[in-house]
Amino acid sequence: MLKIDGLGKTYKAGDKALSDVSFEIPKGQVLGLIGPSGAGKSTLIRCINRLVQPTTGKVWLNDLNITGLRTGELRRARRQIGMIFQEYALVERLTVMENVLSGRLGYVGFWRSFLRKFPAADIANAYRLLDRVGLMQHADKRADALSGGQRQRVGIARALSQNPELLLVDEPTASLDPKTSRQIMRLIVEICRERGLPAIINIHDVVLAQQFSDRIIGLQAGRVVFDGPPSELSEDA
Ligand code: ADP
Ligand code: ADP
Repeated sequence: MLKIDGLGKTYKAGDKALSDVSFEIPKGQVLGLIGPSGAGKSTLIRCINRLVQPTTGKVWLNDLNITGLRTGELRRARRQIGMIFQEYALVERLTVMENVLSGRLGYVGFWRSFLRKFPAADIANAYRLLDRVGLMQHADKRADALSGGQRQRVGIARALSQNPELLLVDEPTASLDPKTSRQIMRLIVEICRERGLPAIINIHDVVLAQQFSDRIIGLQAGRVVFDGPPSELSEDA
């Protein structure tokens, strides 16, 4: 479970990017985060994985107070947070399998991962994940030989290979066509349900957010202006 409590962020340069944001996400819930450019969506995501240190408030992941962690502890905490990116962030020259395995070591140890021999259990797990995202037959292809939708499936499998407690998903479909976007959103939501994994999806496409999220939070000028089921989101929001 993720709990955000009174989160605020003021950047040195000036404006309040976030003010008094509070919410909880239970296991398996997919939260669509929407709002205009500059609303604070990226800042919120970055406060959760501590790429940004919030000015006020706390972030709890299960029993772990992420805002209070020192640098050494932070690395371990980030292993519990799976990240999925707009531009996939794959290592293009490496195979699909190698990209998925890299998730096991987290983003800090990314390059080192290829100097190690992976335990058979990790490899078996990576194959299971590739099967789940529909890429079994592409395991040995280079990432740069895949389509955008396939690359994002690798990104999903890599995030899951960390065995995360939370998924943070940043504009996962921004580089994809509408049909592929729906397939990717459906896959993420199904996997979250199966695993009881909570997720925050930063998504600019309100229609997609409504179609696939269990719940929507709307941010505007750093504040929560909507928090509820997609069906209650009005047309003009
Ligand atoms: P969104 O992701 O919704 O577009 P952001 O979180 O990127 O919103 O930005 C929220 C506000 O914080 C904006 O006013 C933006 O200009 C400001 N901001 C974001 N990052 C920084 C930064 N590193 N330094 C100063 N201001 C920032
Ligand atoms: P996104 O598309 O994720 O909202 P942006 O293009 O808004 O990202 O921002 C790109 C980078 O610039 C981010 O690292 C963000 O924190 C930083 N940034 C955004 N707004 C400002 C700002 N007003 N001052 C300084 N840095 C900013």
